[in-house]
Amino acid sequence: MPYAYDDQNIFARILRGEIPNKTVLETEHCLAFHDIRAQAPTHVLVIPRGAYVNFDHFIAEASDAEILDFNRAVAKVGEMLDLLPGTGGEGYRLIANSGPHSHQEVPHLHFHVLAGRPLGAMLVGPA
Ligand code: 5GP
Repeated sequence: MPYAYDDQNIFARILRGEIPNKTVLETEHCLAFHDIRAQAPTHVLVIPRGAYVNFDHFIAEASDAEILDFNRAVAKVGEMLDLLPGTGGEGYRLIANSGPHSHQEVPHLHFHVLAGRPLGAMLVGPA
């Protein structure tokens, strides 16, 4: 059972409406909202509505419609917040943590969309 999903995780509770969030975008299969501890002027989380622990779980078990909607939702957040370098924005960084070495805190797939200042080197510290 490699992908046991904990339905009491904080994002599952946000999806059920048990905990408030500052919503940026809602789609059929996704929700995007501001991170409660923003690490950049723009820090948005994009999550699927489905019960997926991480990215590899999502790709293994989500439908094509969910995967397409998720990717489009991430891009749409960039567009809505004027981040896209192709249309004059200053750019953004996507982060998706998966598992213990990544320091994943919440066991429900989420992409971080970070922007609004120069974000520096990708990682700090030695390889
Ligand atoms: P992870 O470390 O799992 O990649 O990121 C989890 C993120 O969820 C963190 O950036 C953290 O600030 C955010 N977070 C945790 N609890 C809440 C919450 O209740 N509401 C919101 N909006 N974000 C949360």
